[in-house]
Amino acid sequence: MNKIIYLDNAATTRVAPEVVEAMVPYFSENYGNPSSIYELAGASKEAVSRSRETIAGILGAEAKEIYFTGCGTEADNWAIVGAFEAYKDKGNHIITTKIEHHAVLNTCEYLEKMRKANVTYLDVDENGLVRPEELEKAITPKTILISVMYANNEIGTIQPIKEIGQIARKHGILFHTDAVQAFGQLPIQVDDDYIDMLSSSAHKINGPKGMGFLYIRKGVKIRSFIHGGAQERKRRAGTENVPGIVGYACAAKRAVDSMEERTKRERNLRNHLINRIMKEIPYVRLNGDPEKRLPNNVNVSLQFIEGESLLIMLDMEGICVSSGSACTSGSLDPSHVLLAIGLPHEIAHGSLRMTLGEDTTKEELDYVVEKLKGIVEHLRAMSPLYEDFVKNRKK
Ligand code: PLP
Repeated sequence: MNKIIYLDNAATTRVAPEVVEAMVPYFSENYGNPSSIYELAGASKEAVSRSRETIAGILGAEAKEIYFTGCGTEADNWAIVGAFEAYKDKGNHIITTKIEHHAVLNTCEYLEKMRKANVTYLDVDENGLVRPEELEKAITPKTILISVMYANNEIGTIQPIKEIGQIARKHGILFHTDAVQAFGQLPIQVDDDYIDMLSSSAHKINGPKGMGFLYIRKGVKIRSFIHGGAQERKRRAGTENVPGIVGYACAAKRAVDSMEERTKRERNLRNHLINRIMKEIPYVRLNGDPEKRLPNNVNVSLQFIEGESLLIMLDMEGICVSSGSACTSGSLDPSHVLLAIGLPHEIAHGSLRMTLGEDTTKEELDYVVEKLKGIVEHLRAMSPLYEDFVKNRKK
């Protein structure tokens, strides 16, 4: 196969042609600043409010509850720091989990170090699921925020968000969810799940990079995070990224319109890939919940293999995958998510994440399995650990 096989859609996705098409006029003809009052700016302003309505409609929210941000990371930072600042008179306790994205984890660590926050990082079970009863037990009179991701970016596990939201609501605590991997993949209604704040990012759903939003339920107090002009109802300053906002709304509508059919197709392909790997490659473990998982996520640990070597050899075959979270690759530490589900370091090191996209085909996956089988055999043949294992097994 002499083309790139892209299986890293949780890292980012290709921008869809119709998204690019929708964005282009807002770079060239309709370039006015939405805050200006002349006619040229009217088109930009109108496009921003239409886009806000589209996104709000998808979540069952009101347009004025959607605040555009520069990325998913900014939305996570704002939700956590902004809520902490607004509610710090009530308490300083935050509950989150050990498997959050670093956009949440590092923000919580920042608050612990710099603002005397007290953060509980909940354990998860071996499939990466939060136990709602443990979460409820962790609540104290000082708890002001619960932040649990909708679905995990590495192992794809989908959390019991409704149950968690119900607990938060029952105790009068704000509930934030990082839905960067879930928005556009799963049908989310903020009221059904008792969500008070939700973060999302356009580039995970065939939209542009550098574009996110934070849903903030009406009535929730939150301190501004970026200070300046009066944009975003005076809560998030900065001239709006009009092409980005238009592109995001287009990508979101596209994702939701195609959701049922697309995710069904991806789920079937994902199961095909998992089944072939588990059947045809020995000493492999599937990470993440087998059922409650994102339709496009495959994460496996291959014993006696170094994930980085696997990644490089697959890259030489034109296959793009990830050995963990894209944001942490470059570091040799094993993934915090894989350690949190109980994998020993050496197994976590041999992990591979493959995330399918709307363009993925069965033919591509079959090709990947064939290549993977050969590479795994080759790497194991060079592994002293594998050699010892085989010797001991023969004894
Ligand atoms: N949260 C999760 C779960 C993610 O997967 C990512 C990106 O990988 C982010 C947050 C950060 O989003 P962005 O890349 O838009 O900053």
